[in-house]
Amino acid sequence: MDKAISVKLVPSRRNGTEDENFKFRRYLFQWEEEELGRLYEMLLNAPVLREEMSDRLRWGTKTSGLFSIASTYKWCKWSFVDNSRIVDFIWKNVSPPKVQFFSWLAWKERIKTSSYSQRIRVLSDDIDINCIFCKEVVESVNHVLLFCPFTWKIWSRILNWWGIQWVISGSVNSLLNWCTGIKLKKQKNMIWRALPLAVLWSIWKQKNDSIFNNVQVDLDGLCESIKVRIVLWVKTSCPSFKSLVDDSVHNLQQVKFCIRGET
Ligand SMILES: [Zn+2]
Repeated sequence: MDKAISVKLVPSRRNGTEDENFKFRRYLFQWEEEELGRLYEMLLNAPVLREEMSDRLRWGTKTSGLFSIASTYKWCKWSFVDNSRIVDFIWKNVSPPKVQFFSWLAWKERIKTSSYSQRIRVLSDDIDINCIFCKEVVESVNHVLLFCPFTWKIWSRILNWWGIQWVISGSVNSLLNWCTGIKLKKQKNMIWRALPLAVLWSIWKQKNDSIFNNVQVDLDGLCESIKVRIVLWVKTSCPSFKSLVDDSVHNLQQVKFCIRGET
């Protein structure tokens, strides 16, 4: 309720002179309570504020204190060195920007699954939030994109098309981590990088089509469309990729063999 409260005032309240808690007009949801807890924790560990200074915003990664996108990008890159390979994998990719963005959200486990929507009260408690494919397990990011038996079949078929066997990953993060570990030359690498993003995107699209448009699930058709999607993305971004879509979809091993010597 006290919208004008300053950062400077919060610690002084916490020291016991005044009521330390923020006041809200309504009861908070569980997830908001968690956020509030995190905020209190941040404030508890905040640096000591100087009495005579008034509050102002300062961007901490630059000595000038001014915000810039470039400094944010550098900060992210250096702060999450272990993740930088995955960041590159997602954003330096022939898939369309909306697919890259979706994959990034999936990697961060921030896509709007039914279980998430119910948790934030977008869906009421009486709505069925089980996975649309298997109808047995609550729809979570990792279930719908990896663990669901239907999803697992898609991954297995697409990776089999690529020519490898796989062991199911524990999360989208470990899946992408594994994908980044496979080093290939130029055009093969381009196809490989598009592959997991195409699968993630297509599964999500199929899920939405099934829920909102009553589209029947067709495993064979979906796998074919994923392969076509990958090849079309590669052909659009790389004019030197001469192989025909049909050849690539139905005879990928031969196509990979033909581009073997390419650097
Ligand atoms: Zn399922």
